[in-house]
Amino acid sequence: MTVALSLGSLRRQFPRTAAAFAQLPDGGDAALWHLLHLDLSYAQPREVRSMDAIRGGGELLGDFDVVLAGGGLSLLYAALLSARGLRVAVFDRRQIGCGHREWNISRRELAPLGASGLFSAAEVERLILMQYQTGICRFSGGPSYAVSGVLDCVVDAETLLHALRDRCVRQGVTLLPYRALSGYTHEADRLLVQVCSTEGPLRTQVLRTRLLLDGLGAVSPHARFDLCCPTVGGVMDDLTLGSGPHELDPKVGEILVTTDGVEEQRQHIWEGFPTVSATGDAVSTRRMTIYLFYYLRSDLLAQHGPLPLLNLYERYFATLSRYKRGPLTLVRPTYGYIPAYTRLRPMPSAPSDRVLLVGDAAGRHSPLTFCGFGAMIRSFLSIGEGVVRLLHDDRLDAESLSALWQEPPALKVLGGLTLMMSPPLFADGSEDPETVNELLNAAFATLHGMGEDTYRRFLQDDVDGPTFVRFMLGAAERHPQVYRKVLRYLSLSESVTWLFRLAQLHLERRSTEPSV
Ligand SMILES: Cc1cc2nc3c(=O)[nH]c(=O)nc-3n(C[C@H](O)[C@H](O)[C@H](O)COP(=O)(O)OP(=O)(O)OC[C@H]3O[C@@H](n4cnc5c(N)ncnc54)[C@H](O)[C@@H]3O)c2cc1C
Repeated sequence: MTVALSLGSLRRQFPRTAAAFAQLPDGGDAALWHLLHLDLSYAQPREVRSMDAIRGGGELLGDFDVVLAGGGLSLLYAALLSARGLRVAVFDRRQIGCGHREWNISRRELAPLGASGLFSAAEVERLILMQYQTGICRFSGGPSYAVSGVLDCVVDAETLLHALRDRCVRQGVTLLPYRALSGYTHEADRLLVQVCSTEGPLRTQVLRTRLLLDGLGAVSPHARFDLCCPTVGGVMDDLTLGSGPHELDPKVGEILVTTDGVEEQRQHIWEGFPTVSATGDAVSTRRMTIYLFYYLRSDLLAQHGPLPLLNLYERYFATLSRYKRGPLTLVRPTYGYIPAYTRLRPMPSAPSDRVLLVGDAAGRHSPLTFCGFGAMIRSFLSIGEGVVRLLHDDRLDAESLSALWQEPPALKVLGGLTLMMSPPLFADGSEDPETVNELLNAAFATLHGMGEDTYRRFLQDDVDGPTFVRFMLGAAERHPQVYRKVLRYLSLSESVTWLFRLAQLHLERRSTEPSV
């Protein structure tokens, strides 16, 4: 595997990306380095080192009820738990509460922010930068399928994270920026967590805690995902305004769009949400947050060649004009690996007593929509209250911690659909490039036909078992090849598990139907 290691060679290897990044204030150097680092580290084997294996201990910084590793969106937990009177510390290898992403969500899904008491209704309202009117999904060769109330609010990520950090400061949370996790060890009824500085002179420090929350995101050493969704893009300016498919209509959000078929086992999917202009204008803005992504089994990532995100960015800039028109200036790049579990293999439980994974590190969001922000907002309150209870009862064993994750039954079968959108490589090269587009057109025509409420709920991971079975039967009627795809795209054990789960959901439906 050849890997470019200097900025010069990165620029030569990824010329379109380098040219687009060159318009950024620092010439794009930081983003190029960060992408290289992410690409090199994501595929590395992960291990958590015990402190026995780490030389020396370090200065003891204090005793806590909860230590949160990673100060990204998981800061929600630090703010909530400290508001409930717990002693909390947060450390991050970078600054705490600095995000580089844009987040879309629906207004309804933001309710837990208010219900937690962390934000007033007016504060939640101020987090919403703009809201578009209609969402659409459109796949090559098919019509647009409209839906409202899905991912239609643009959330000001920076304001949200800063508000959480300020709240943590007010509530006495110990904030430790520029500290990376070195490892931890169990000591009687506590954990000793060791961190090392990432800026200034190298030094190690130790935090003693009853519970460690791992909010380290997709790169967490605890994380063991079987699905991933490499995603690149960012805020683009100067789009051509209009109502055609290649133009920006500020009233329309594009949730899922394909312009091409499968290439090299990848079905590329666009996502484009209007966002406010530099002056805060939402009505005639020419800005859109545009992402390109594909679904993949995590274990195939390495086989797709080195530097997947950088390669995806190169494709993004090469094919952007097939999706949208205009000079298309990059204002802010956003990218990352979004992880998930198919749920067709045993889910890992909490890694050990006194350690709980949250956010992307846990990867418990839908394996179909990969909306980690939405899933975090929906779950942090119930899981946070559960943590308070378990700490009160001193029940911090792995089993009790794992049981805090409750999820709708349909999440257990959505991963099967995702696998059907990530075609394996067939030795005879026989798969039709339009295979995924045909499946998506059949699936979305069915969803659309089931009524807007069902369609909306499906895209918000809020679909119940009986509805999911109705959807599957409807899609299979339109596209009978779906049965062949299950057997071709899923392994034998995945197919058996998936069909068994579908049967369980079907029986659930039968038992809830009124008897005649
Ligand atoms: C391009 C993109 C767009 C997205 N858009 C949406 C969207 O519109 N809607 C939606 O619902 N979801 C979206 N998501 C998903 C969402 O952004 C994530 O699910 C969410 O940000 C996860 O937050 P987190 O705090 O768990 O992880 P992260 O945001 O990854 O935070 C992890 C933190 O841990 C720190 N860290 C990592 N390793 C260490 C270490 N060893 N020591 C100390 N600190 C460490 C990092 O510095 C970071 O601050 C998107 C994701 C991407 C990549």
